[in-house]
Formats: sequence, C-alpha cells, structure tokens
Amino acid sequence: MSQPKSLNIHWHGANVTTEEREGALGQRGCVVWLTGLSASGKSTIARRVEQLLLERQTHTYVLDGDNLRMGLNKDLGFSPADRTENIRRVGSVAQLFADAGSIVLTAFISPYRADRDGARAMVPAGRFLEVHVATDIATCEQRDPKGLYVKAREGKIPEFTGISAPYEAPESPELVLRTEGKTVEESAMELVNFLESRGFLTA
Ligand code: ADP
Repeated sequence: MSQPKSLNIHWHGANVTTEEREGALGQRGCVVWLTGLSASGKSTIARRVEQLLLERQTHTYVLDGDNLRMGLNKDLGFSPADRTENIRRVGSVAQLFADAGSIVLTAFISPYRADRDGARAMVPAGRFLEVHVATDIATCEQRDPKGLYVKAREGKIPEFTGISAPYEAPESPELVLRTEGKTVEESAMELVNFLESRGFLTA
C-alpha cells in the first residue's frame, strides 16, 4: 500500500477496545464485499440484506458504487487508475464502518483482484468477506436494468466491464452467489444464512 503524503501524522487509538465496543453494540463488525459484473445483482442483494438485517436489529449500511461516485468519488472516472483509486477509498470507508461495529455491505464491480486484495488488507483477518456475485454475462446482459449493456455494445460506453474492460474473478472468495434462475429473496437469504454461519448475526 502507498505511504501517506504527510510525514508528521500519528495513528490515534481509541480509548475502548474492539471487544468493548462490540460488547456494547451486541454485534461484530465486518466488511461484506460484493463483486461482480454490472447487473449481476450486487446492489439489489445488498439492499435486501440490509433490510433483513435491520429487521433483526443489526446495524448495517450499504456503500453503493453509483452513490459514492456522486460524492466522495465524484472526481473519478472508469480508467484503470480511477477504478483503483475508487476501490481504495471505498475500502478505507468500509474499514471505518466495520471498526465502528457495523456490517457494511459494499456493492462495487471492483474488477481488479489486486484492488480487492488491497481492501481486504485494510481489515482485520476474518472480517473481510468477499462475495462473488457470479451471474454470467449473458444473464446480466438480458437483465440490463439501466440499459448499460445496450449502450456498451453500441460503443457508447468505453471501458465497460465484461465487454471492453476486464473482470478478474475472485480466486478464493468466502462465498459465491449464483443468481441465475433464483429470486432476489433467495439470493439475499443465501447471504444472510452465510453471515449467520460465520457468527456475525445474533440469533
Ligand atoms: P449490480 O448492482 O450488480 O449492477 P443491480 O442490483 O443493479 O446489479 O441489478 C440486478 C438486476 O437483476 C435487478 O434488476 C434485479 O431485480 C435482477 N435480479 C434478478 N434475479 C436476481 C437475483 N437472484 N439477485 C439479484 N438480482 C436479481
């Protein structure tokens, strides 16, 4: 990871330990990193899981690609360097949320393996759960909820992941979600059950 530009800065630790914070909140923070092609279902699944977790009184929050590109990342485009910087910033924000005790769900294509590994490296071991939403491109293109594949095929969107820009699939994700032929509810429940099996949800 690159070094900070400033030299005279020091990390300030909290007065409370992670265990004390989590004891008070009654939950363990983690980063649930959804990665996959556009229209694979990342945002839809993340939003539904957020609802399901809140119903269980679990604090959770979705970091969504488009939303962050309207604020924190509004200066970034889709060149390889900008995509890397996008993910570096998101990883850093996700790390803060997880440290605060939340279950943060990120919904970014995040096509480069090295960038995802960089985000993983910011979080304590076992707290980064990479979830490959492994919907095949034919299904994504058929869904095309934002009409992006049509535009990309017409050459109107340069550097479109899966068509004119690469997607590097995870080699050993914590979970693979295949959404073809499944309902949103089924896919969301698969993720909720997985989080439960890893001890992140109280009964
Ligand atoms: P992404 O965030 O990966 O770009 P979106 O969530 O925006 O994808 O779009 C996925 C589309 O696929 C939505 O229109 C959603 O309703 C549809 N869909 C169909 N089946 C599923 C499923 N099992 N899981 C998630 N999305 C699904």
